Amino acid sequence: ALNRTPLIAGNWKLNLDHLQAIAFVQKLAWSLDDAKHDFAGVEVAVFPPFTDLRSVQTLVASDKLPIAFGAQDLSAHDSGAYTGEISGAFLAKLECSYVIIGHSERRTLHNETDEVVAAKVQAALRHSLVPIICVGETAEDLETHGPSAVPVAQLRAALAGVTSAADIVVAYEPVWAIGSGQAATPDQAEQVAAALRAVLVELLGDDVAAKTRILYGGSVKAANIAGFMREPNVDGALVGGASLDLDEFASIARFKQ
Ligand code: PEP
Repeated sequence: ALNRTPLIAGNWKLNLDHLQAIAFVQKLAWSLDDAKHDFAGVEVAVFPPFTDLRSVQTLVASDKLPIAFGAQDLSAHDSGAYTGEISGAFLAKLECSYVIIGHSERRTLHNETDEVVAAKVQAALRHSLVPIICVGETAEDLETHGPSAVPVAQLRAALAGVTSAADIVVAYEPVWAIGSGQAATPDQAEQVAAALRAVLVELLGDDVAAKTRILYGGSVKAANIAGFMREPNVDGALVGGASLDLDEFASIARFKQ
């Protein structure tokens, strides 16, 4: 929206091994290229599992594919005795541009608190990775607190210690809309995105707030993306299920056509 470059981000979750990832990214690039995708006008990014990242990096670098990539999570720590963790330093070395932080599945299945999310945002920024900070309310939150209160509180907490120099992305993902087939309406997404942008203005200033992209996520499909993209405060989408369907994801990226 406005003069921010839209970002269409595909969160693969626990799907596609490194061989499948290579085939998928190659085909996605061809498909977008065939359709004369405006790569400068709409940024496309994929978020494969950690074990795919080296393969995706090699493919993207050797074929100079105009597709960005990142990880679905990172450790709050840079190194040390943290078995099973992956550091921001490792992701930066693999040329990741982005890292998703605080996805609702991490918050609920892995007990990530607002404090953990804030520490991970700091870890990403230490290594010049752009954090995609996920916030969103459950159906119960919506009933009790209304649409914006929980996402706004989560964003405030995630931004603790973030300065106005930071390059960040925010993803508004109502938990009730994730994987449910029940997307928010463009109106609902806009209402919360506007409230989130007001938090950015307050904490990081007008300039950062004006350039920061706020994505909508939750059952985005080719059939509903255009409605979200017409909203002034929605600057792209974080796509789960539909990002695994090549044609569907390529159509979402071509929302302008
Ligand atoms: C997600 O998990 O980030 C997501 C938006 O999932 P889906 O598109 O499947 O609702």
